[in-house]
Amino acid sequence: MNRPGLYVHAPFCRQKCAYCDFVSYPLNRAAVERYVRAVTAEIALRGAAAEGDAPLEAASLYIGGGTPTLLPLEALTTIVAAVQRHFRWPEGLEATVEANPEAAAFSVLDGLRRLGINRLSIGMQSGEDRLLTVLGRGHRAADVREAVRSARRAGFSNLNLDLISGIPGQTPADWRRTLEAALALEPEHISAYGLEVPPGTALHARLQNGGLFPVPEGQALEMFHLTRPILAGAGFEHYEIANYARSRSRECRHNLVYWRNEPYLGFGPAAHSFWNGRRTANKRALPAYAARLAAGGLPVAESEVIDVRTQMAETMFLGLRIVRGVERARFARRFGRDPEAVYGPEIARLRAEGLLTLEPDRLRLTAQGLALANLVFERFL
Ligand code: SF4
Repeated sequence: MNRPGLYVHAPFCRQKCAYCDFVSYPLNRAAVERYVRAVTAEIALRGAAAEGDAPLEAASLYIGGGTPTLLPLEALTTIVAAVQRHFRWPEGLEATVEANPEAAAFSVLDGLRRLGINRLSIGMQSGEDRLLTVLGRGHRAADVREAVRSARRAGFSNLNLDLISGIPGQTPADWRRTLEAALALEPEHISAYGLEVPPGTALHARLQNGGLFPVPEGQALEMFHLTRPILAGAGFEHYEIANYARSRSRECRHNLVYWRNEPYLGFGPAAHSFWNGRRTANKRALPAYAARLAAGGLPVAESEVIDVRTQMAETMFLGLRIVRGVERARFARRFGRDPEAVYGPEIARLRAEGLLTLEPDRLRLTAQGLALANLVFERFL
């Protein structure tokens, strides 16, 4: 039976970060009430549509944003209760909430633990205040240390720290210091993504008008190559291009759902779902999203059937993000064919270029393939 990963998007932030084009709104009571009414209605509707005779068992829960921990605890309690009413929550379910360091009050974190949330993902981003300012973040490095202390005090034993490399003005030495600062906080998981700057953001404008300069490509690559030895040296396993875990049990199960191209249901403005071979995207604006649910309908803005050929290609290039690679038996169970039977010429070329290895049970990227992953992914599209 399909078990979906569940994602809840909480679209509220105190301020807009300079590189962010996510949907987010300033927090106010009326908007929060409207959002909670709508998102719980969507959880009920999607649960009913997917469940058949009995509620579906969740594979994972992730409440992200935006800044979910800005929501009052009563609002988070109502949302989690709706998930528990309409989906089965198995023993040991990984249930994550994202927190910004400046919005991680002990009272909220303690309340989340009591609701059954057992993983916290903290947006540290950088260990240096100068670079946090470039990103337009609302916190300082000291806030991260305080947030981690509060999380531990609340009983969280599974913490992720999100980091960003390639920030304008950042050098490889700065990046090394950020990794060391993160390690000093002893998290169970670290995500280390390269900065992306979408058009229309404040940081994009500054880079366009010469107010700031992008990190030279060679230095960005140097930061990517620094990450693995530093984190591996501290006992972290590199299990996905940008993700590191202290042990297999601390890998992010929710993100593994995405990387394995398995089904997920997303609730909230702009959330995406992939269910029964169809991918849908919700309406982005909160008023339109809430109005549709108030009228009793699903708030879908776009819907696309993903044909089997595309599902195979996506399973390949998402699965190759995982360092252990694509399991051939799992692929064959799902599509009735071994990956080599489908992508023989592409696999042969990538092997000849030293970017991919074909093993009896799996296909995986080499170290060079991981560094040039986007180039590999294009071959499967
Ligand atoms: S906190 Fe996250 S979602 Fe909110 S503006 Fe910053 S990057 Fe965007």
